[in-house]
Amino acid sequence: MSTLDVRDLFVRYGKSIVAVQGASIEVREGEIVSLLGQNGAGKSTILKTIAGIVAPLSGSIAYGDVDLTAKGASRISAGIAYVPEDRGVFASLSVGENLRLGAVSRRDRQEIDADVEAQLERFPILRKYWSRGASLLSGGEQQQLAIARALMIRPRLLLLDEPTLGLAPIIVDLIFDVVQQLNAEGVTVLLVEQNAVRSIAISDRSYVIQAPGRVLGSGDARQLAANDEVVEYLGFS
Ligand code: ATP
Repeated sequence: MSTLDVRDLFVRYGKSIVAVQGASIEVREGEIVSLLGQNGAGKSTILKTIAGIVAPLSGSIAYGDVDLTAKGASRISAGIAYVPEDRGVFASLSVGENLRLGAVSRRDRQEIDADVEAQLERFPILRKYWSRGASLLSGGEQQQLAIARALMIRPRLLLLDEPTLGLAPIIVDLIFDVVQQLNAEGVTVLLVEQNAVRSIAISDRSYVIQAPGRVLGSGDARQLAANDEVVEYLGFS
């Protein structure tokens, strides 16, 4: 069983901006865990640090027995895929090329083809627009492409940053359904979301992050609802 264990994380941008201050987060295998909180609370920075995009000032990140704070630790080899908030789709490439790029670290050609097919089954819109330039896709379509591409590494742990931000309600429903489906297939999920109510509903546990990058509270839906500070901060009753 591989647990993601983030301990006492401190992250700074430059000399003066403290984005994460002592956050500790645990994601056990098989869970959906969400990071909730207001804009600028530090959620994305925590995810980026786990993904290896941003280096921590101090603290540790381990996934099972892999030390992700070690220099050059490969997230892909560890089975961790990351979907950034801006989706990171290559605008000048086609949908198909973007999807195949997700498998660039793999050599098992036949299985790659089977996985491409599986993603096209999961996201039919990507089959429809296979040859289309990715820049021509809507935000919701790009989000589906970004998730499909991340799945091409066959991750055990999927990091999703604001996957529903700015999307139409029907696509928001689809994305939340996909997250639950993936989890049922055995993928562990760490989700950063603005949509606290929806996220709590699908998560085993959530962490509520308050600026500058501190954990205000954590737990399952019942525990969060019983925490007055959390309820007041997230603004739901
Ligand atoms: P949002 O939902 O707005 O992305 P967040 O909770 O994910 O919010 P972060 O994006 O992690 O928060 O930002 C935490 C703090 O770090 C904020 O004060 C933000 O302005 C700052 N910050 C984020 N990225 C950078 C950067 N590249 N350079 C400097 N400061 C940054």
